[in-house]
Amino acid sequence: MGQQVTEICMLTITDFINILHCYYKSPMVQMYELENHKIETWRDVYLQYSNHFLISISPEASLFDAIYSLLKYKIHRLPVIDPESGNVLHILTHKRILKFLHIFGKKVPTPAFIRREIQELGIGTFRNIATVQQAASLYDALSIFVERRVSALPVVDEQGKVVALYSRFDVIKFRGKPLLGPWQNLAAQKSYNNLDMTMQEALRRRACFVEGVIKCYPDETLETIIDRIVKAEVHRLVLVDRADVVKGIVSLSDLLQAMVLTPVGIEALLS
Ligand code: AMP
Repeated sequence: MGQQVTEICMLTITDFINILHCYYKSPMVQMYELENHKIETWRDVYLQYSNHFLISISPEASLFDAIYSLLKYKIHRLPVIDPESGNVLHILTHKRILKFLHIFGKKVPTPAFIRREIQELGIGTFRNIATVQQAASLYDALSIFVERRVSALPVVDEQGKVVALYSRFDVIKFRGKPLLGPWQNLAAQKSYNNLDMTMQEALRRRACFVEGVIKCYPDETLETIIDRIVKAEVHRLVLVDRADVVKGIVSLSDLLQAMVLTPVGIEALLS
């Protein structure tokens, strides 16, 4: 018998970014709040501004229900909770689900529209893309994450050409000082004290594994795009024109919406 759990709370990178953004003043001012706040203190501060409740799913629910919740609530992690013990059994993500569908989907007929071009199908976001200039500061990027609630930002040069992709996850992946040896993360190294650094510098200091900019083009088929995103094990592709100028984002959320929810009549949970 598992232990009875009374309350479960999820603390994700989004919370860490919100905390950093909330308390950062300058490289000269230490963020005591960040170092001394207890998780419960932060949760109380945060809850004043929203009525966040934990979104979860039971192991009895269908995969369809899981996809619906991920997209409806615009979350990236869905805990599967045992209703009896209250224990967390698993954390579901888009990546896991798409990979599963990709492997087992081969046994069921694929829709004909999979061979049509992405621009024709309109799968993805093609307007008002949140990007960050490479000369902008890391703090600017955090502000965009907080305001736009997107999970990654294409980093662009003055011409709007994509030079990198900076995801929320990258915020905590920071290279340690060479003398310290192994890669260390931003929190361990307290690099968060300098959010004034440029995005160029932040990109240089990203830790070892970097999810590169995996691109796609408007005239590619949905099939090609699904294949690329699954093989690369990334959450999104940056849609560019032939000059590499950012034109859109195709994320796993867009693909799950198009492949699973829209065919059964559940329209545009993402908008
Ligand atoms: P995600 O949370 O990354 O799965 O994306 C949720 C929705 O936001 C999808 O419709 C994406 O196409 C869209 N999206 C993701 N990143 C961006 C961005 N940087 N700017 C605008 N829309 C985005």
